[in-house]
Amino acid sequence: MPSEPMGLSTGLQSALRCPVCQSSLESAAGRLRCLGDHCTATFPVVGGIPILLNEERSIFSIESLADQARSRGPDASPPAFSPRDVLKRLIPGLSLNVAGRDNFRTYTDLLLKSAASPRVLVVGGKNEGEGFDVLLSSAPPIELAETDVVFGPRTMLICDSHDLPFQSGYFDGVVVQAVLEHVVDPFRCVEEIYRVLRPDGLVYAETPFIQQVHEGRFDFTRFTHLGHRRLFRRFNEISSGAVCGTGMALAWTYRYFLLSLSDSPLLRNLLDTFARFTAFPLKWFDRYTSGRAGVFDAASAYYFLGTKSDSVLSDRELIKLYRGRI
Ligand SMILES: [Zn+2]
Repeated sequence: MPSEPMGLSTGLQSALRCPVCQSSLESAAGRLRCLGDHCTATFPVVGGIPILLNEERSIFSIESLADQARSRGPDASPPAFSPRDVLKRLIPGLSLNVAGRDNFRTYTDLLLKSAASPRVLVVGGKNEGEGFDVLLSSAPPIELAETDVVFGPRTMLICDSHDLPFQSGYFDGVVVQAVLEHVVDPFRCVEEIYRVLRPDGLVYAETPFIQQVHEGRFDFTRFTHLGHRRLFRRFNEISSGAVCGTGMALAWTYRYFLLSLSDSPLLRNLLDTFARFTAFPLKWFDRYTSGRAGVFDAASAYYFLGTKSDSVLSDRELIKLYRGRI
């Protein structure tokens, strides 16, 4: 197989490590080969995108991802709009991220103050999350490594956040937006984020609390505001709070309640449309309730912005940080 050029910068390529043993990698015959003494792992590069998974610990398989990429092409353009898609677009949505854009402004400013050309790892970055374009508008000088476990419009590298295939301390920042509910072990993933960040490196995370199952079987965990803070207990907090509020939480709950009334695809479609038309204004309340104490007990999703720390927040200190009302 001919060697395929990777779309990663030279610096990022040199920071790639074997996700199994953390040794360096070399490029050979269209694959990346581990140079570890006792490791025989090799990883394909498909359409310029390396697939760097530790299969023993991942629920994803290298071969199925490579097959998927070869059959559809990682750069496959999205299908043309059908009349059904146009109709779907006319139906109002129930989701609203009220803080992501401002948070990304703060995050981008902090990154640019912290380094001349900050290196930022995006975990779960196959699509742009809310406000991500703010970060994107400063790249360069910000250098992004956009990763996911699946191919998508922005995927530069396939990896599993339980075993990030990067040299320790390489990144100035990590973004993990609406991802940690979809990993089987979020604590392990945050340990990996901690490892690949340099000292004082910046993390920005958004993770749901009151949200029903989405992405089907790939949805495992939710976090309260304090639970989320504990997840990042090896970080100093800059700010945290709700990104999606109680109005969105209520709208989603109402929709999923209606959907639970039937297993018929046709009826569920009708119920879904009914839910969206009758509940969509609820999300607008989130702009007015943002920051209120009750939101810390019942929001749809929380964010955490912080820096890598040498110390660990104790659970005794953690409970003093409760900001709700119940
Ligand atoms: Zn290895």
